[in-house]
Amino acid sequence: MFENEVNETRAVLPGYAIDVGAEPLDRPARNSVGGWPFLDDGQEWPECFCGERLALFFQFDIPLNVEPFGGDHLLVFHCRAHNDASEPELTDDGRLVPAYWDAPRPPYPRPFWRVLLQRHATRPTPDREPSVRALPLTLRPLADTLDRHGRGVPGFNVGGTPSWAQDPEYYRCACGADLMHLCQVPEGWSFDVHPGLPEQPYTIYADTYLLFLGNEVYLQACPAHCDPAAVWPVNQH
Ligand SMILES: [Zn+2]
Ligand SMILES: [Zn+2]
Repeated sequence: MFENEVNETRAVLPGYAIDVGAEPLDRPARNSVGGWPFLDDGQEWPECFCGERLALFFQFDIPLNVEPFGGDHLLVFHCRAHNDASEPELTDDGRLVPAYWDAPRPPYPRPFWRVLLQRHATRPTPDREPSVRALPLTLRPLADTLDRHGRGVPGFNVGGTPSWAQDPEYYRCACGADLMHLCQVPEGWSFDVHPGLPEQPYTIYADTYLLFLGNEVYLQACPAHCDPAAVWPVNQH
């Protein structure tokens, strides 16, 4: 496996805890688990290679002081039927392969997820995410993004520093920019789904779905914004 060097001078962004509300949403909200994805004009709801629409797990607006991503809208989609860990594929010079967001993910012909980070996310889709229950998200500034050991604070967070489950891993975008940590989803974080839906393979509970087999997920995004899908989900456990 490619060994990524830790850059100690990496900028630490302001951090926010992401709180999931309890009262189900009955209308579109920009910050939500499930719900109505806010997309660009003409942008289609992303699909898995298997033909299923990807489930919207969550979306929110990045706080303005989380540079250079402030004001962007983050959307995290993942297939219900395909549940696996992400495995990076790198070029000889250590970059993620060109168009890595669409590149084959053996044994799959394409990724089973889509993470979008974009300025243009102006309108909600007419349809609500059918599986993941729609709940509001709120962001709460973290007073401190490091714990007393100097590690990132655990939790469902945006910005700040990752609370690595293993050694730090950083990746370089296909465009040449060093990806920056943007958002962290804790290990085993379960997303409630409506009753009676097909179960997700390898999941723990019948009424929840997981991202990437329940691995801890660290979303690293391209600061050059070379593509709305230029976000790599690092998985650790
Ligand atoms: Zn699929
Ligand atoms: Zn890039």
